[in-house]
Amino acid sequence: MFVYLHIPFCVSRCIYCDFYVVLEKYGGKAAYVDAVCREIELRLGALSPAELRSPIQTLYVGGGTPSLLDSDAYRRVFEAMNRYLPFAPDAEITLEANPGARHSEMADAPEKYLEAGFNRVSVGVQSFNDLELKKLSRLHSTQEAAAFIRGLQAAGWANISLDLMYGIPVQTMATWRETLRQTVDLGVQHVSMYGLKVEENTPLDKLTALQASRGSYPLPEEDEIVAMYYEGLNTLRSGGFERYEFSNLARPGYASRHNLNYWNNGEYLALGVAAHGYWQGNRYETVRDLTCYMENPLAGETAPCPPQERLENAIIFGLRKAEGIQIPALESEFGIDFRARYGHILRKYEGEYLIWQGETLQLSERAIPLSNGILAEFLD
Ligand code: SF4
Repeated sequence: MFVYLHIPFCVSRCIYCDFYVVLEKYGGKAAYVDAVCREIELRLGALSPAELRSPIQTLYVGGGTPSLLDSDAYRRVFEAMNRYLPFAPDAEITLEANPGARHSEMADAPEKYLEAGFNRVSVGVQSFNDLELKKLSRLHSTQEAAAFIRGLQAAGWANISLDLMYGIPVQTMATWRETLRQTVDLGVQHVSMYGLKVEENTPLDKLTALQASRGSYPLPEEDEIVAMYYEGLNTLRSGGFERYEFSNLARPGYASRHNLNYWNNGEYLALGVAAHGYWQGNRYETVRDLTCYMENPLAGETAPCPPQERLENAIIFGLRKAEGIQIPALESEFGIDFRARYGHILRKYEGEYLIWQGETLQLSERAIPLSNGILAEFLD
């Protein structure tokens, strides 16, 4: 079984963020852990004996800033889970954390989380350039981020992932290269690199609209952003990383099993407020309101995922992976003849953008910047 747990608390809201976030200063963390434990009882308590036979393979605690909860809070959560299901001996258990020496965004010493059971940490670094961090309204500095990661390593964390961002206002190819260089030098195991997206109704959205005419918030041009993506791939590859998904690279043996389950279109249980799950053929989202969630942790919306949607997801998520999709397995799962059904798309893109490796279909690396358009053609 694969499990996601959402922790909504953050010290402040970043300018570009459109996640469901609750500011830590308003309190409620202890009561939230109580509600999560109640949800675990309700959801795991409802599993059939057959489902209870499969241990937890991965748990990903994302947010928000999950490191704002202390290790005892997670011990309680893990105990609540283990009343129903054990963790597999090699389970991947990830904590998202933000570097923050000034604002103490880790509630406990790093080794305490290892002792509680975590074995992987994903750190929201975003950039090793102080001006870019300011433009993103992140609270940490470059120096603090590097010290935070060295502190994790000294405490014994051996599976560290960094989140990096490109396409940040004022970012140049030179500053992006410096961020990549520092990432490689730190000797971490995994990197997720994402282009900054201006999401609707975020403060960043308003700021870019307001300041576009003044030029004081200059976003890099589209072709520069594409060049930054390829620069990221090349530099990280030279540093020993392999790309296993559009935006994710890992040293050999460190690809995230939790995220691979998403791209394999696998089912997973989601817990916590504003969490998205895919379970027993249904997609569900728990309620996006902390008070409602505390009253009823099962509140939210559920919709069945019909076979056509499952097929589309299997193709669209599967082509995000560097290894691509095994077409015979897809055909037997969905009872389709892939070439007959999608011949018009294959004829358009085969060779340059869609490539065959035997019976496996992959999206070529040069197709990635165009992938939204290509993948959308697989939608019914
Ligand atoms: S730390 Fe992450 S979740 Fe929290 S506000 Fe910033 S981007 Fe959003």
